Amino acid sequence: MLVELDEKSGFCFGVIRAIEKAEQLLGSGVALYSLGEIVHNGVEVNRLKAKGLKVINHEELKQLRAATVLIRAHGEPPQTYAQAKQNGITLIDATCPVVLHLQSNISKSYTQNRGAQLVIFGQRGHAEVNGLVGQVAGDAIVLESVDELHLLDFSRPIVLYSQTTKSLEQYELLCSEIKKQLATGLLFEAHDTICRQVSHRKPHLREFAKKHDVIIFVSGRHSSNGKVLYEACREANPLSYMVEDAEDLRSEWFKNCASVGVCGATSTPRWLMKKVADVVAGGW
Ligand code: SF4
Repeated sequence: MLVELDEKSGFCFGVIRAIEKAEQLLGSGVALYSLGEIVHNGVEVNRLKAKGLKVINHEELKQLRAATVLIRAHGEPPQTYAQAKQNGITLIDATCPVVLHLQSNISKSYTQNRGAQLVIFGQRGHAEVNGLVGQVAGDAIVLESVDELHLLDFSRPIVLYSQTTKSLEQYELLCSEIKKQLATGLLFEAHDTICRQVSHRKPHLREFAKKHDVIIFVSGRHSSNGKVLYEACREANPLSYMVEDAEDLRSEWFKNCASVGVCGATSTPRWLMKKVADVVAGGW
C-alpha cells in the first residue's frame, strides 16, 4: 500500500515562531508558563510540557506573580497585558504578526467609524476572537455563520473583519448576504483578514485528497483551521478520517485500499504526521 505524507502540511510560520520561542526559553532553564495551550494540538502540548512548559488559564494568571508567561500566536486582549504588568510578570509575546496587524486594524476602524457595527466573523470564545473583541472593549458582534445574520441591524453601517482561520468561501457568502440586506447608501466595509497560510492550503489539499483512496487528516479536534482543512479533504474524498494520534486509526478504513494520503492542519507538527504515516505503512 502506498502511503504519501503531504509535503505542504504542518505548522504555519506563526506557530513555528511561538514554539521556537518556547523551546529556546525552556532550553535556557527559564520556568515558562503558557497562557492557554500554545497550539491546538494536545500531542505537541504534551511534548512541550515534558520539557517543563506549564499551561495556565486567565484565572491562574491573576494569581501568578513575577513569572515569565508566553502569549501564544492567537494573541490576547489588552486586559491581559494590563494584568501581567500589575502582577510583575514578564511577557514573551509570540502573537503572530498577522494577528497583531489585524488587532491594530480593528482598533483603528473602531475609532474611525464610531456609528458603525463592528462585526467579526469568527468562533465565539476562541482565543483569537477574544483578543480581537478586546481591542474594542467588547463592543463588537461575533458571527459564527450566515445563520446568525439576525444579530445585525441592517439600518446601521457595518464594518466586517474575519478571524484568520475562517473559511474564505463562508466569508464571501457572508459578505454577499450583508450587501443584499443592508439598507441602500449605508457604509459596508469588508476586510478579508483570512490568513492565506490556511486558505491557500485548501485547493492543494483537495487535489491531494483526490489522489488517494483514503485520507488520514491529523489534527487536534479543537483546532479551528483543522476543522476547515479537514472539511476540504472530506469534500474531495469522502473516505477522509480525522485522527489526533496513531491510536485513533481503525483497520477497517484501509480495506481494499491501495493508497493513503496523510496530511494535517497548520497546528499539526510534522513529526506527528510522520509517526501516523509510519504506523499506516507498517501496520495495515
Ligand atoms: S494561521 Fe496565519 S494568522 Fe494564524 S498563526 Fe498561522 S500564520 Fe499566524
